[in-house]
Amino acid sequence: MQAIKSKSVNIIGAGLSGLAASCLLAQAGFDVKVFEKNSKPGGRANFFEEDGFKFDMGPSWYWLPDVFENFFKQFNKTVSDYYDLRKLDTSYRVYWQKEDFTDIPAGMDKFLELAEDIEPGSGLRLKDFFAEAEKKYDIAVNDICREPGLSPFEFLKLKYLKAFLTCDSLSSVRSHIGKFVKDERLRQILEFPMLFLGTAANHTIALYSFMNHADTALSTWFPMGGIHEIPRGIQSLAESLGVKFYFNTEITAYDSSQGLIKTEDEQDFVSDILLVNADYEYFEQNILAKQDRVYDQNYWKSRTLCPSVLVFYLGVNKKLESLQHHNIFFDYPYDINAHEIYNEPQWPSKPFIYISAASKTDPSLAPENSENLFISIPIAAGLEDTEEIRNKHRTKILNRIEDIIGEEFIDNIVFERSYCIKDFQADYHSYQGNAFGLANTLMQTHFLRPRVKSRKIENIYYCGHMTVPGPGMPTAILSGEIAAKQIIKDNATELK
Ligand SMILES: Cc1cc2nc3c(=O)[nH]c(=O)nc-3n(C[C@H](O)[C@H](O)[C@H](O)COP(=O)(O)OP(=O)(O)OC[C@H]3O[C@@H](n4cnc5c(N)ncnc54)[C@H](O)[C@@H]3O)c2cc1C
Repeated sequence: MQAIKSKSVNIIGAGLSGLAASCLLAQAGFDVKVFEKNSKPGGRANFFEEDGFKFDMGPSWYWLPDVFENFFKQFNKTVSDYYDLRKLDTSYRVYWQKEDFTDIPAGMDKFLELAEDIEPGSGLRLKDFFAEAEKKYDIAVNDICREPGLSPFEFLKLKYLKAFLTCDSLSSVRSHIGKFVKDERLRQILEFPMLFLGTAANHTIALYSFMNHADTALSTWFPMGGIHEIPRGIQSLAESLGVKFYFNTEITAYDSSQGLIKTEDEQDFVSDILLVNADYEYFEQNILAKQDRVYDQNYWKSRTLCPSVLVFYLGVNKKLESLQHHNIFFDYPYDINAHEIYNEPQWPSKPFIYISAASKTDPSLAPENSENLFISIPIAAGLEDTEEIRNKHRTKILNRIEDIIGEEFIDNIVFERSYCIKDFQADYHSYQGNAFGLANTLMQTHFLRPRVKSRKIENIYYCGHMTVPGPGMPTAILSGEIAAKQIIKDNATELK
């Protein structure tokens, strides 16, 4: 049996990964304090309310519900103790051309029927595709995504090797999908989940087709009240376990010889262990002394970042019949946008558009007969971001949406706010204003990502979307779990 020496941990950042880690550390007996520069928990899973419209500022897709459930289970709790989760069916709507759309249903059987309608014969072939995706999901999410990634030898497990050998893992997702379907629309639907990895299907290894299992078999969910109910719930769990939170408290310096963090207003807090949830690059380059850094500017410049996004939060004083809760637009192939993100970074000429209208599922998120629209396009991180550029794209995007959905709403906008690169930098110290951290390319997977544990300073650990396993809410929770478990392991002593 193992026990924890009574030790203290300071956590910088109350994003989902910092929150998740705080709970596990407190439960294990650590004295935990969390310091957050902003006023609310959740980091990028942020929230605001204006004129009766309530907006989740960041994440809107609740996928991998098992990860959230397993997190709460470790405290003998369930998701339903903290928020009211509903399955969406339709999962999402895909617009192809003017008033031409496909609704993606929840669940495997209905999806296979849809595939069969689009491409006769594909339903049967896709059964094999999804059986393989489920096998990969089991290995990836339940095993590999829970490894600390401290060594390539973590891969030398019989079940991983068996899975790699029996599944199509190292070709691209695009070529993998191409073995099962020929129809262009079906291909785009099956490639869509890869966008969550911050990369494009032709640059993603086929191991990641486990995301298709997440999309189809596990479905899309929504916590009533909004995504922000998740960090609120985890914060209340953390407080019940004794974690102390300091909001509006920015950390500006760290003295590794004393384990001491300094706040903006010159307060000092000492701890045995430091866990960094703040953006990895910012912490290392701006808070840590030069001799304590593991990665230099050249390292960060050479990474493939996830995209940033331009978001418009719109309050519209009418109901839009042409939208579902989640809506994506494939009127232009995503490849054009991907090229202008990864190959020749520039403001996109024909961006992929995503609209969330959460008020469709939870009418309390907008005034009566109104919708709270979250409209976003992915863009390359690090682009010039000015009001003028945002406005130019606003006009193009909104006109395009009206045209495709065949319903007017621009004249019904009664509240409006935009959010882009400069805001990510100001609010989260995000490197080049990226929205989702480091992309999950082959060369940035597992032990090739920035380390959970510093190589230079004994007691510094990291969690969040720059380290393992990668971008996304469920992965942020897993990242917090990985870091906390590593700290617990490194500080455990045998009970007499
Ligand atoms: C627009 C957008 C849409 C998204 N959509 C989805 C989606 O639909 N589904 C999904 O699963 N994921 C989505 N994501 C990704 C998901 O939100 C993130 O991957 C996840 O929330 C990251 O959590 P984190 O804990 O790693 O980091 P963060 O949320 O960034 O948390 C880090 C925290 O550290 C704080 N901090 C930074 N510096 C300091 C400092 N010096 N002192 C104190 N505090 C500091 C920050 O304020 C922040 O609160 C989206 C993200 C964005 C931005």
